[in-house]
Amino acid sequence: MAEFMFKRMTLIGIGLLGSSIALAARQKGLVQHIAITTRSKATLDRAEELGLGDSYHMDQVEAVKDADLVIVCTPVGACEAVAKTIAPSLAEGAIVTDVGSVKASIIRQMQPHLPDYVHFVPSHPIAGTEYSGPDAGFAELFVNRWCILTPPEGTDEAAIKKVRDFWTLLGSNVDLMEAHHHDNVLAITSHLPHLIAYNIVGTASDLEQVTDSEVIKYSAGGFRDFTRIASSDPTMWRDVFLHNKEAALEMLGRFSEDLTALQRAIRWGDGDTLYELFSRTRSIRRSIIDAGQEVDASDFGRHLKDGESHAPVLNRDNHEYTGS
Ligand code: NAP
Repeated sequence: MAEFMFKRMTLIGIGLLGSSIALAARQKGLVQHIAITTRSKATLDRAEELGLGDSYHMDQVEAVKDADLVIVCTPVGACEAVAKTIAPSLAEGAIVTDVGSVKASIIRQMQPHLPDYVHFVPSHPIAGTEYSGPDAGFAELFVNRWCILTPPEGTDEAAIKKVRDFWTLLGSNVDLMEAHHHDNVLAITSHLPHLIAYNIVGTASDLEQVTDSEVIKYSAGGFRDFTRIASSDPTMWRDVFLHNKEAALEMLGRFSEDLTALQRAIRWGDGDTLYELFSRTRSIRRSIIDAGQEVDASDFGRHLKDGESHAPVLNRDNHEYTGS
């Protein structure tokens, strides 16, 4: 009989991340039994229709019973309530992890409630799309993406290794990081870009001198790329900003100062300043492409021709990752 890495994996929350983990873990043969629980009956029924798991539970307590791996895949703000609910039913030696986009807050929310006899290894797969719900998942989501683990001090090394191996087998490259450092890094690489996208799309929709149809018609001028990011799940992103407040405000402060400097350069006709910045930023894109985190195509790799392939892998509808 095949050896499974985990006998029972429980997924709490079965949206984009939960369903992608279910599909990938099944495809790779890593888990014997997948138990799924989520907040609404409608989502649970849909997960069952899609055949994402082996058992489906409205009760989180029942779902985690006998699980040796529990992955919390809910929005960040729901993690404390989840930890409180499941804590008394967790099996001795179970590994508890999550996929939240913010890490220090998740540790603060969950760790105090979890019993000493379970291993808590927080993770953040830097892999996503602007879609949500159980239909959005696909097994290749984690391929060639980074996954950052932020185990609190004193976490069992064997448990960290097991979680690392799990993500590696799903196709990710794994890094370990201190949780606050993670939150600072992600504030600039992911959280601030999302905030800018939400803001610019909001500003455009408020403009009175540009009619709606012109905004849509000429969107390829740059606006279109922001609308993709700004269509990401509002609950998830509300929670990210509420739970990574300090780092987000720090990066936003720096961003505003730099924006003011650009405003001044435009006002005073300081072309050298503009040219110097625009040249420097070009080389940053080059290094992202060289690192295999983007493709060097003029359409940002959105439209593959038949037979073409490149990293990063696009999802089944050719949507580009947002990497949130
Ligand atoms: P999603 O598609 O919106 O799915 C969220 C799931 O959590 C749904 O099953 C939802 O259940 C459930 N849920 C929502 N509120 C809940 C609550 N209060 N209690 C219990 N369950 C609740 O979200 P996702 O994109 O998979 O994101 C999940 C987590 O992954 C978030 O923490 C996010 O920060 C992180 N993440 C997301 C991305 C991304 O690009 N999307 C990338 C990396 C990490 P119902 O449908 O039943 O209400």
